[in-house]
Amino acid sequence: MYQRLVIKVGTNVLTRADGRLDITSISNLVDQIADLKQRGVELVLVSSGAVGAGKELLPGRANDEAVAQRQVYSAIGQVRLMELYRNLFAGHRLLCAQVLATKGDFRDDLHYDNMLNCFRALLQDEIVPVVNENDVVAVTELMFTDNDELAGLVARMVSADALVILSSVEGLYDGPPDRHESRLIPRVAAHDTGVDGVVQARRTSGGRGGMATKLRIARETATGGIPVLIGNGRRPNILSHLSTNDWPGTVVAATDNSAAAD
Ligand code: GLU
Repeated sequence: MYQRLVIKVGTNVLTRADGRLDITSISNLVDQIADLKQRGVELVLVSSGAVGAGKELLPGRANDEAVAQRQVYSAIGQVRLMELYRNLFAGHRLLCAQVLATKGDFRDDLHYDNMLNCFRALLQDEIVPVVNENDVVAVTELMFTDNDELAGLVARMVSADALVILSSVEGLYDGPPDRHESRLIPRVAAHDTGVDGVVQARRTSGGRGGMATKLRIARETATGGIPVLIGNGRRPNILSHLSTNDWPGTVVAATDNSAAAD
């Protein structure tokens, strides 16, 4: 069983098809995280969903994609999201904390050290850090490709034993996931570039990421010695599979230089 995990959850797990926050799905996720905490696992949650939550609060706006509109959505949506997390974690007698980061924070040594020290202190106090990109200041070149990239950086920063990436599909497929003949790829080696050509670059609707970025981030993270487990965040109790070695999605196996189990 992994002792320290980073779990990344995408917008499509946290919101419904109509864009509203999916309280049931978020609540199921928090229940599973609380269960892992109960077993003594240290855990950092990287959560998207701020922009989606903001759109729910300010529906019907024209010019949805304008930079300032996105900043407004994320600023109001992040509060809504954290309000929900705080209440749900409180139901398990757990505290959660908000950590917002930009790409620059991982380039600047002082910012990096400050963030790492804060993660250490939060984990020491058994608080669940909930990380998101600081979408208010992260515009254009300051932006992460998506929260998968942020999650990979956090996993390396805190020396996680594994990175779990939860989205609305089961894992990596050798073709379009909705096509009958496409097959789930259960395991990929960190250095195996053979699957690059078959994994679809197409993105799902809500979030910014896609399977091709997931694979790139997963491979980089696994090359750094941290295995990556990609799975469907809507599958009931998916996180219970972490202890049983029968992950129902795709495992990107860490390279041998790693001491981490996979
Ligand atoms: N930071 C964005 C949000 O909270 C999500 C970015 C992504 O989809 O990866 O809405």
